[in-house]
Amino acid sequence: MRKKIVAGNWKMNMDLSSGIELVRGIKGYFANKKPEAEIVLCTPYIHLALLKDILDGSSLKFGAQNCSSEPSGAYTGEISCGMIKSTGATYVIIGHSERRTYFGENDQLLNRKTKLAINTGLRVIFCCGEVLKEREKGIHFDVVKKQLEEGLFNLSETEICNVVIAYEPVWAIGTGLNATPGQAQEMHKFIRQLVTEKYGNKIAEETTILYGGSCKASNAAELFAMPDVDGGLIGGASLKKEEFCAIAEAAK
Ligand code: PEP
Repeated sequence: MRKKIVAGNWKMNMDLSSGIELVRGIKGYFANKKPEAEIVLCTPYIHLALLKDILDGSSLKFGAQNCSSEPSGAYTGEISCGMIKSTGATYVIIGHSERRTYFGENDQLLNRKTKLAINTGLRVIFCCGEVLKEREKGIHFDVVKKQLEEGLFNLSETEICNVVIAYEPVWAIGTGLNATPGQAQEMHKFIRQLVTEKYGNKIAEETTILYGGSCKASNAAELFAMPDVDGGLIGGASLKKEEFCAIAEAAK
């Protein structure tokens, strides 16, 4: 049985105190009820060093939203996978569309980051997804296939087992316009088929594939009910305790 996961991507939101308050609130919400899904909080770097202690005794996991492509050294302003791992974080998001678009991160760079993260002992939430023009042209499957082939498919079998794939149609991110459950299922099934062709049925069946893009409490259950949708990567709605916890509970 593959793992269900609901991960929050806070993006560049929450200063130190408001972020800690949110983490404490989510921890408190789940203090007496164990969620069926694994819950992961991907916060800005500034929170990471505090979260291990705050989340002690809870099943909540945490991670970063990016990492350096270099292991260490003279790279001013960068944060390495080893530094992230040293905070107790277990995940890192790689390939988010905002990193691809605003920071020019291409498939080769993302592949390098992914390998480095996994070989440092982190699990990777690897994002893929098409922009609106690509969907309108009917090339969305080709776009996602290329992102996966170039970003992931040179990983070994052992490495790929540490990857969670997040399908995030870019036209749905932060727009309020989510993919329909049918659109999400169609792409998730396609992605699982690609993983099957490359790594075989067992690995494909065990690979968690998340949906991301305007997922909220009011639409999470119907998206997560799709057979190949194994949870969500949640942006805006992960900043509100009640909303995020309701989404997390919708993944069963
Ligand atoms: C995201 O940034 O990964 C995301 C899915 O954002 P939102 O939920 O706000 O659309």
